[in-house]
Amino acid sequence: YLVRALPLKNSDGQIVKWYGTNTDVHHQKELEKQKDDFLGIASHELKTPVTSLKAYAQVLESMFKRSGDLKNAELLGKMGKQVDRLTNLIGDLLDVTKINSGRLQFNNTAFDFNEMIEEVKEDVQRTSFKHIIQSNLNFKGTVYGDRDRICQVVTNLLTNAVKYSPEANEVVISTQEIGNNVQVSVQDYGIGIEENLKDHVFEQFYRVSGNKEHTFPGLGLGLYISSEIVKRLGGKIWVHSVEEKGSTFFFSIPLKQERLEIRQ
Ligand code: ADP
Repeated sequence: YLVRALPLKNSDGQIVKWYGTNTDVHHQKELEKQKDDFLGIASHELKTPVTSLKAYAQVLESMFKRSGDLKNAELLGKMGKQVDRLTNLIGDLLDVTKINSGRLQFNNTAFDFNEMIEEVKEDVQRTSFKHIIQSNLNFKGTVYGDRDRICQVVTNLLTNAVKYSPEANEVVISTQEIGNNVQVSVQDYGIGIEENLKDHVFEQFYRVSGNKEHTFPGLGLGLYISSEIVKRLGGKIWVHSVEEKGSTFFFSIPLKQERLEIRQ
């Protein structure tokens, strides 16, 4: 309970009465927990049918391909891509419930950083038809951390760079070693972010509204999840942006992570 009380005094300054409010914080916390539990169960339950849907779409696509029916094969390919989007959205919801309940697990290993960046770059390039993703990788070496989770951060930043620069055709990803950190930057020449909204983009479910020419799909979770991952690795994430010119998102992770205790 949150209790707020105000004394009512008489002319001698003696307290004659108390006025108070008594807020049931426990009830609010319980509601929040129920919301998180629901999101967790719902996204977990959605994962299984969506995974089978993807498998059926793939089987049908290759059947159509084999029989020479390329038109239907293409439709099934498109269906598969939409199912992938659904899978990513469900994955983000699951991650948020894990973060909020302190259950996001990390599986840290030492891995080749450039190889990971190139892998993500190729993956994102495959679905970005208009943009060319350039890379400028000056850091060479291994990083200690959860490779899949760091892949997720790089994927989020690259897909955002492509998504929020519909009029541009270039995105640049760079890496360098600064101090005892590896720093990654992802630059785009897109819509940019208003100065006073810049720091909010890392908040849960936050999306900048008010772009009249385009509507961009999304839940507003990618940057929140990315910032939680980077923080857990002892790193930082930030953005420089000029409206209508473009944005550069940065993150840095300390090297020799194995000597640090991973923050929970
Ligand atoms: P989503 O893209 O699903 O909305 P994110 O958490 O990835 O969620 O991003 C939050 C918000 O930050 C976006 O809705 C968008 O308004 C803004 N944003 C993210 N990346 C960029 C970018 N590269 N350029 C401009 N705005 C961006």
